[in-house]
Amino acid sequence: MKSISTLVLLMFFSIACSQSKQTKTMQNSDYKIFVLNELSREGNTDILVNPDPEVLKKYAPTGTFPMAINAFLVQKDNENILFDTGLGQKLVENLAAHNISPEQISKIFITHGHGDHIGGLLKDGKPIFPNAKLYINRVEYDYWMKEKNEPFTQVAETYKNNIQLFDIEKDTFDLMPDIQAIAAYGHTPGHTMYLIGKEKNQTLVWGDLTHAMLVQMPHPEISMTYDVNPEQAAKTRESVLKLVAEKEFKIAGMHVPLPGMGIIIKSKTEGYEFSPAR
Ligand SMILES: [Zn+2]
Repeated sequence: MKSISTLVLLMFFSIACSQSKQTKTMQNSDYKIFVLNELSREGNTDILVNPDPEVLKKYAPTGTFPMAINAFLVQKDNENILFDTGLGQKLVENLAAHNISPEQISKIFITHGHGDHIGGLLKDGKPIFPNAKLYINRVEYDYWMKEKNEPFTQVAETYKNNIQLFDIEKDTFDLMPDIQAIAAYGHTPGHTMYLIGKEKNQTLVWGDLTHAMLVQMPHPEISMTYDVNPEQAAKTRESVLKLVAEKEFKIAGMHVPLPGMGIIIKSKTEGYEFSPAR
């Protein structure tokens, strides 16, 4: 009896796992991408900059919108690659769920220097990822170093032998086969997106292009208070959404509610629509 009930439980568990995996992964011929979710919560529309009250009434009538804090794991050519590291509260645990230890991470691509993106790099002043090369856009690096931002300078010091700064020339720069850095300045001065894959089935890891999908999809012109340059952020958001919809890139966003990934479609009425990955 016991073994039968164990078997049933196992079957249930494997079905549950395969279902949850479907919602959390997007698979391509040459790489797999997984969301590493740290938290999901409601954000408050107070953080939006000068939103039209009619727009809020229409798209966020409760004054809140769903958001998340995500990092992403990409498995490619036997490498485990991270895109941002979240606040660091659940990153190691989330990786363990994929049977990956921090030592197995070979590369980390950083979108920008805010604490909810670099927080998972250090623990008690020590590097969590001793074998990882840390890729940062030089513009972003210089900005936070000039600001003497403490969490950032700590990361810079701790990872100094493993930091790979890069310059984006003519807005794009190939970092390794099939990963391209793309400038998306505005949220921070060197905010950077990464395009993974080639030709069809490309995924754009767009960092903090959006924070309030409910409002910023139909109205990309609305920025938020964390944007260092709200005007530039709005222009960037509009042009990136246009590009993504045209090119049919899949997107992965650090504050996009779970599953954190999906596609963007031009709306027949206003702006764009987000269709979550299934
Ligand atoms: Zn963020």
